[in-house]
Amino acid sequence: MEEKRVPEEQRPQCPVYRKCGGCQLQNMSYERQLIWKQDRCRKLLGKFGKVLPILGMERPYHYRNKVQAAFAFDKRHNKIISGVYQSSSHWVVPVDSCLTEDETADRIIVDIRGLLKDFKLTAYDENTGRGFLRHVLVKRGFGTGEVMVVLVTGTPVFPGKNNFVRALRKLHPEITTIVQNVNDRRTSMVLGEREKVLFGPGTITDTLCGCRFRISPKSFYQINPKQTQVLYNKAMEFARLTGRERVLDAYCGTGTIGIVAAKSGAKEVLGVELNRDAVRDAIQNAKDNGVKNIWFTCGDAGEYMEGLALSGEPWDLVFLDPPRAGASRAFLTALCSLGPKRVVYISCDPETLARDLGILQANHYRVEQIQPVDMFPHTQHIECVVGLIRTR
Ligand code: SAH
Repeated sequence: MEEKRVPEEQRPQCPVYRKCGGCQLQNMSYERQLIWKQDRCRKLLGKFGKVLPILGMERPYHYRNKVQAAFAFDKRHNKIISGVYQSSSHWVVPVDSCLTEDETADRIIVDIRGLLKDFKLTAYDENTGRGFLRHVLVKRGFGTGEVMVVLVTGTPVFPGKNNFVRALRKLHPEITTIVQNVNDRRTSMVLGEREKVLFGPGTITDTLCGCRFRISPKSFYQINPKQTQVLYNKAMEFARLTGRERVLDAYCGTGTIGIVAAKSGAKEVLGVELNRDAVRDAIQNAKDNGVKNIWFTCGDAGEYMEGLALSGEPWDLVFLDPPRAGASRAFLTALCSLGPKRVVYISCDPETLARDLGILQANHYRVEQIQPVDMFPHTQHIECVVGLIRTR
């Protein structure tokens, strides 16, 4: 019936499309998805300026470099399963392969499930709080091929640990590091506090826009590296760096945008980030890339911005890449009084972006360009980069 009503709709390719809920747009062809996202951007953002055609992926599959699977015991079939939680529940839906996930990562997870049986290890039971393996997290550096496996366990005790690690490495010689993360709390958070490196350096490296970035089990790293480069290149294009600019990278995470900017023509860069671990990674990343004209500070971007605005120092350009909630009102007010000539806003939510652009526009910033980039094919998420210039 539905297919008749909406002719461009297609049957979702994925057998767990409804149960998983991760790919909301899989009932559309990829071309339709891009049109849907473009329309949404035009509706929400068109009043501020020109919305350029969305930059989609040539092959919109297996783009995720970070894959996570929950483990559980299926009593009915008397076996361990791994997969995703059914949306808004704690039932594990078995998934062996996913259209959006890295294929190597998916294969590793299936093989870990097989090894559990060989080693007589159990899956964690959320109801009783007993059992061994809770989750497996795999991260792969698409630019380097390095692979990290994180085994999240309910107990610190890991019977047969060395043999398990040996067997896993034999099946997957591409694995460069294995970490045990212990999560013994009754929580829906995947990762616990304690970590033990079982093999390799405990981190992997990836390359992006000609820079190297270290990735640890907990650090934030963009999940679609191919499109991240498209996004960052646009951000640099909108920034129009000439070698003279003092640049602020607000909500900087592990410093990726700031480091790329420091290498592509900024005079100096200051990164501001709330998460202490991310700041530590950012400092290390700057060192690893031999970038000397960048500094990082840990704190709330809004508060920090207020201090900068009061100090009266001149800043030429501000990049901001806030979480979905957008920038805080305090941040935007301080940004406008700081008055950099250019602002490059990177957003993962066009609704909060529209709200914030309204504030910037009312304070003498003009939107030059709006560029949607499809970072999350088959999902409803939309990423945009916006170039703004001060008009007086
Ligand atoms: N620019 C980075 C990270 C973007 S994600 C990249 O491209 O990879 C958004 C970041 O904002 C996260 O690292 C989060 O920790 C940080 N953040 C959230 N609230 C913040 C706040 N109030 N002040 C500063 N940083 C904040």
